[in-house]
Formats: sequence, C-alpha cells, structure tokens
Amino acid sequence: MSIYKDMNFWFITGSQFLYGEETLRQVEENSKEIVKGLNKAGLFPAELIYKDTMKTAGGITQAVKEANADDTCAGVVVFMHTFSPSKMWINGLNLLQKPYLHFHTQFHASIPNEDIDMDYMNLHQSAHGDREHGFIGTRMRLARKIVVGHWESKEVQQKIGKWMRSAIGVAVSKSMKVMRFGDNMREVAVTEGDKVEAQMKLGWEVNTWPVGQLVKAMDKVSDAEVDALVAEYEKRYKIVTDDMEAVRYQAREQLGMQAMLEAEDCMAFTNTFQDLFGMMQLPGLATQDLMRQGYGYGGEGDWKTSAMTAIMKAMAEGMDGGTSFMEDYTYDLASGLTLGSHMLEVCPTVGADKAKVEVHHLGIGDREPPARLVFEGKKGPAILVSLIDMGGRLRLIVHDVNCVKPTKTMPNLPVARVMWQAEPSLEVGGECWLLAGGAHHTVLSYDCDAEMMRDWARMMDIEFVHISKDTDPVKFEQELLLADLVWKLK
Ligand code: MN
Repeated sequence: MSIYKDMNFWFITGSQFLYGEETLRQVEENSKEIVKGLNKAGLFPAELIYKDTMKTAGGITQAVKEANADDTCAGVVVFMHTFSPSKMWINGLNLLQKPYLHFHTQFHASIPNEDIDMDYMNLHQSAHGDREHGFIGTRMRLARKIVVGHWESKEVQQKIGKWMRSAIGVAVSKSMKVMRFGDNMREVAVTEGDKVEAQMKLGWEVNTWPVGQLVKAMDKVSDAEVDALVAEYEKRYKIVTDDMEAVRYQAREQLGMQAMLEAEDCMAFTNTFQDLFGMMQLPGLATQDLMRQGYGYGGEGDWKTSAMTAIMKAMAEGMDGGTSFMEDYTYDLASGLTLGSHMLEVCPTVGADKAKVEVHHLGIGDREPPARLVFEGKKGPAILVSLIDMGGRLRLIVHDVNCVKPTKTMPNLPVARVMWQAEPSLEVGGECWLLAGGAHHTVLSYDCDAEMMRDWARMMDIEFVHISKDTDPVKFEQELLLADLVWKLK
C-alpha cells in the first residue's frame, strides 16, 4: 500500500498570448525541464506532472475543473514564468478544491550580465509575474503555500516535498474513517468533540461498532491464522515471556480488529478499557502491531488523536523516524524531562531497538494480564501534536521536543516509553501547552515537523498553534486571545 505511488501533483505554468509564439514555446520547454529536474532530484515523495501553460481564463478554469475531478491529483503547483494577468485566474481559482502551492522560482538562477537583453527580460519575468499572482491569492484569501527559490536548490525541493506530504495528508483526511469500539472514557472532556464539525472540516467519518461484534470477529479467526501472526511476531520482536497463550490471544484480537477495519475501510480505531465486554485482555501488542502497519489509534475512545495518528503516519510514509500515539505521563522536574508512555499502546516505529514482547498484570480494566511491546524511544527532534475541539472550531497544537535516551534504567516499568525535553523548557512549554488547552494524548512524530502540520492545518482551514524554542508565554497568550477573536469572526 503506497498512497504516494497512486497520487501525483500537477505543475501549471502561467503566461499569456502577449509575447508571441516563440516566447510561449520557450516557456513551455523551460517548464518541462523544471518539472523533469525536480522529479529527477529524488526529493519528492510523489511525481510532479507538467500539465500545461495557461494563456486564457477559459483554459485556467478548465484545468482547475480537471484537477478537482481527478482523484489521483493531490495538489496543484503554479509558477508564473512570464506575467500572467491575474483577473484571468479568478474564476478558476474560485473553483479550486485541491491543495495549492505557489512556486516563486525562475528558470535561470543567475542574470547573464553580458548577454541580457529585452528578450531575456520578457521571458524570465516571474519576479513581477509571481507578484501579480501573489496579489490575487491574497485578495481572494486563498489558503496556499508559497515556496521561493531556484528550482535546483535542495532546500527548495525539500520544502516542496514536505508540502506534498501535507497535501497527501489532506487527501487522507478527506477519506478518513475511524472505527470506535465503545465510547469515550467516562467523564473525560478532552477526548470529546463535535464529530459533525470534524467531518465538515476534515472529512472524517467517525462511527461506533459494538465490542460484541469484535468478539465475534475474534472467534472467527482460525488457529492457523493465529499461528502465522505469532510467527511474524517472533521474527519482528524479541519474545521474552513464557506465556504464549497471552501472546496468542493478542494475535486473535489483532486479526479480529483488522478484519473489521478492512471490511469498513477504516484506517483508525479507538477502544476503552471501560468497555471490553467479552474480551479477556485489553489489546496491547495487537494495537501496537496495527499501528506499525499505519493504522491510527487513540486510547480511551480518543478518536481525534487516533485519526491524527493515521494521517501523520500517511504523511510520513517511507520516512524512517516513526510516529505513534503518545501520552505525557510523568515528569522528572529535576532535569526538565517528560516521560511519555501509555498503558500499553505505543507504536514500535518510535523504538530505538527491537521491541520485547512481555506479559504483565494491568491494574486498569479488570482483565487478564495483556501481552505488550516494551521498548525505549529513539533520540532526536520530534513534535507532539494535539487536536482539540474549542467549541465551534478545531485547534491543532504542535509542540517541538527533543527526545533523549532515558536517563535512568526503569526495570519495573512494563511499558514502552519515550523521554523528551520540551521546547523551550519543561516549564515554559508546559505553561503554553496548558494555556492552549493541549490534551494529555498526542501524536509523537520524528518525521513530521511543525511546518508540515502548519501547512496541513492551513489547507484544512483550522487553527494552528506552535510551541517552539522561540515561544514566549506572554506573547503566546496574546496570540491565543487574538486567534479566539479571529476564529469567532470567521
Ligand atoms: Mn490515555
């Protein structure tokens, strides 16, 4: 399964008939060379396709309609090689439903000082052509990404590549289906939310299936299927328990859940320890191995974090950092570190080494001791992401953190864990996170960064809040206050 092989991006060049045939032929040739060079550089997750050079309002409108109707088109990149009067673009852009990137580049990186003449000036006009285009984007209040620089620059290519991942995240979001086994944990506020609003804004279909139906699906799983999955566990993980019955039970749970997820085309799911009727163990290893495959998960009925996990995993497909459901658990205030974990469900893609399968008693949920993967997280920069419902709108909060190797051995902690230093410090980061209303559940990702999430939020038309090394709590509080006003007016 690779969404990046199935999807592509369109490159549309802007021009007009004013310059004559020879110039337009050169514009087209240069555009094709730019697209060829960009693809060849190998920094894009999906293919960029040169579509056409636009010379008329009718042509622009037609191209936009085609982009909208094409399910494989994940976004549109535009570049004004020459001047392209923007009133020509208004009707087309009014219809655009795909992610939109304005690429402010130029065919040549340098001015050919001795050779430059008026023909050159008329051909390489993006410096003013793209300004005309920028104006209309701003005037129409269009959500778009702007990337500036020469197309052969690695930084520029990386920036576009990252935006492509965010745009794929938009496509994934619009087809996201979440399977909820049971409801949210009783009395918890932050895992609640307006599912109608979430579907209107983000496209998510969030629905509930009875736990009894899952138990039936688990009963249908054959012993041979359980054997085969346990054999895969043995290859992938280090089994350090003698209680193979507990491990086999997790395999049965995994296969039962997967059968239901596949039948309903769901890429994310939730469950809650308060509703395990007919199940002997809270799914641990089962959930962890499903997350490894790209499924989203949220504990205690947290469907928002579950869907975000799946979307961010899709955005990060093919990268090697890792993305997981996460929870801020406990602090080492003395050293400014946070220990993140969950009862069981941390994705092994964020593990530093091969995960161990262990079986331990679980005090919560009143079931048999569940098998789970235990490991320590990777070192390196990462983000924590929380989507909250502010009542009338959604807010996406992103916090930059630096993951560290846990400073102490924790032989009695029977769960996977990740330790991090929050930016700009535990104290300021924590203060801002609480001010913003960030949840205890998050998505931890070493692959997605704040820019990718900002681009995604802009395309989804939801509020974005970022806590970074530069965050000042006084300014941050003012930003939240202003944002509250702006989003009430929107
Ligand atoms: Mn939790």
